[in-house]
Amino acid sequence: MTVVAEPSKKLICWSCGSENDADTQFCANCGKLQPYIPADYFTFFGLPRRFQLDTAALEKQFYRLSRKFHPDLYARASADEQRWSLEKSSVLNDAWRTLRDPLARTEYLLGLAGIRLEEQSRNASDRAAESGTAKQPVVPPDLLEEVFELNMQLEEMRMARAGGADDPEARGSLEAAKQNFSAQMETSQQDLQRLWIEWDSAANANDEETQQAAQRKMVDLLNRRSYIRNLLRDVEAALKG
Ligand SMILES: [Zn+2]
Repeated sequence: MTVVAEPSKKLICWSCGSENDADTQFCANCGKLQPYIPADYFTFFGLPRRFQLDTAALEKQFYRLSRKFHPDLYARASADEQRWSLEKSSVLNDAWRTLRDPLARTEYLLGLAGIRLEEQSRNASDRAAESGTAKQPVVPPDLLEEVFELNMQLEEMRMARAGGADDPEARGSLEAAKQNFSAQMETSQQDLQRLWIEWDSAANANDEETQQAAQRKMVDLLNRRSYIRNLLRDVEAALKG
């Protein structure tokens, strides 16, 4: 795992030749739209790479830039500027969708640190498929017992249904499991926010060791969270029957 480095380049305005910061969208001197240079979403918005983010300020910035990049404004500009306005509008929408959402933002910033969460879960299910077991990611160790019991309750519900009846006892257990897993989802949200703070303050202090430790905890937490989300889905499906 690597720690995210901040980019630091300069941009020379194509129109007036003055020097701007690399993440500048419009020249500070002449105001002309600058070329689209592939950049991460934080850089694109001119934000530091941090998990905590002022989404209200981000939203304002999004609407401001949407207006300023709008292709209609460049209908009579050069072909280059027309292309940049299209490219920037498209990246702006992707960046906004990703950064506004706490989980998408977390996965994205972890991705910038070289961590791919989807791959992890895909690999886990591939391994399970190869060994012939159910296509489920690896059970977090502290959930083994709960998952074992849940599977029995789900099976009881299935058998009752197959016999054309409902099983009130199994239904009660599943309702309780639903409450339990929903509460765990809430807790994991709070735990994640604590890890954001830990990582962000470490990033401000250039403390890579603490950042990496927080990253590892986030990965565990997100894997556990997606596991619980799947369990919740199974329980809700069984309750609906
Ligand atoms: Zn300029």
